Amino acid sequence: MLTSSGRQSIRKAEMPPVRAAFKADEDRDESEPPLRRVAQISVHTSPLATLGGKDAGGMNVYIAELACNLAKLALTVDVFTRRTDPETPEIQEMCPGVNVIAISAGPAAPLDKNELFPYLPEFAVRMALFSLREGVRYDAVHAHYWLSGWAAHLVKRYWDTPFVQMFHTTAHQKNKVANVADRETDLRQQIERRLLSLADGMIAANPEERADLIWRFGTPTEKVCTIPPGVNLDHFQPFDKAAARARLGLAPEDRVVLFVGRIDPIKGIDTLIEAVALMAGNPRLPDPTVLFVGGDLDQLGQPTGPLAGVVETVRRRGLDGFFRFIGSRPQAELPSIYSAADVVAVPSNYESFGLVAVEAMACGTPVVATRAGGLAFTVEEGVSGLLVAPRAPAELAEALTSLITDESLRRSLAAGARPTAERFAWPAVAASVLHIYERLSAGYRANLCQEEEIYA
Ligand code: UDP
Repeated sequence: MLTSSGRQSIRKAEMPPVRAAFKADEDRDESEPPLRRVAQISVHTSPLATLGGKDAGGMNVYIAELACNLAKLALTVDVFTRRTDPETPEIQEMCPGVNVIAISAGPAAPLDKNELFPYLPEFAVRMALFSLREGVRYDAVHAHYWLSGWAAHLVKRYWDTPFVQMFHTTAHQKNKVANVADRETDLRQQIERRLLSLADGMIAANPEERADLIWRFGTPTEKVCTIPPGVNLDHFQPFDKAAARARLGLAPEDRVVLFVGRIDPIKGIDTLIEAVALMAGNPRLPDPTVLFVGGDLDQLGQPTGPLAGVVETVRRRGLDGFFRFIGSRPQAELPSIYSAADVVAVPSNYESFGLVAVEAMACGTPVVATRAGGLAFTVEEGVSGLLVAPRAPAELAEALTSLITDESLRRSLAAGARPTAERFAWPAVAASVLHIYERLSAGYRANLCQEEEIYA
């Protein structure tokens, strides 16, 4: 909406009444007003960012889809993110009912996420000023990643609004599988611990993460709900395989293994390269073609940044002939790319959910994934894919080989793929998240989770 001054403005919601202290279930008032407006906080990365780069992947997709699906449930959603470019408009509409708000805190330039903590007090104050200026208030706040959790805690002194924390991954989980150089900071670990008691509710993306938060960190059981991210089943649909291959210049007889993801040590790209070396070195097996989506190409189509390191490793191993690097691709192109593959490899050392695996299955393509974090719950072993141990190239090579050589196995797993992904339909996921907001906003601090679990 444009104001008379030409500046874009957000639609105002009626002010909800100020809530009383926490309530018990027996005090429930059936006439409680419905939620009107919620804030999502994503300090270090915007849901409008280009996907497949260093810091833009599953969480960005999650926030964008969640916000737009909540808006379909009649909520107005404002997503607050740090300004990284002076030219970005302050308010951008992402979909009807959802605005992305650029908050100036620190330099208006990209910064490493480990440099952002000192700017969080400024970020919180500017969020508060924004809401004052626009005359809006929020019924619930949903913070993504530890940095946003701290911002949600800081803004509470102005808004007095309950907040839900979602870590996406914890430092503890990451450090369990990280090399020394990639370990998360002590500061992150400390803040994550503090947020467990400061947040009013928590969302874990898989049952293992919930157990970890409860058993390892002593978070009260009633505070943590397991709600997986969803997949956009209208967008991610099977395409005609022959046409999809022709578009990518792949031959019908190619044995195509697809990788899609950010270039990050946690993605297990080194394990994939080792597995391909084993497959390529076996004269009794057909050669695999690895289609690699993710990372940056320069204007001449040459890999840059961390992708250049991956390409160099592949070259050193003498595997250039087996890999095709096509850089990051927009989500609009991905259904066709998933449909072109015989199998999608998700060799991650850890994934809190693993959207790529679910998107692939939604497109009817079987998955070989590691039994790491959320993947063990999303990929159904022997139904929609195969699971292997993380960091086990030989096991990965064996599973990929069986998929590219055994036509009947591939057909059977392809048939199970779409139904497996259908469990993660966004309308059900958004309704579970809305349930937590409603409980918190109505003043409850127990029984936050909906009874029907999406993970069956
Ligand atoms: N993605 C994309 N283009 C790319 C690479 C990735 O759109 O070139 C998207 C992909 O479709 C998925 C997300 O980025 O939705 C990656 O999510 P995932 O949970 O697999 O990994 P994360 O980035 O959270 O570690």
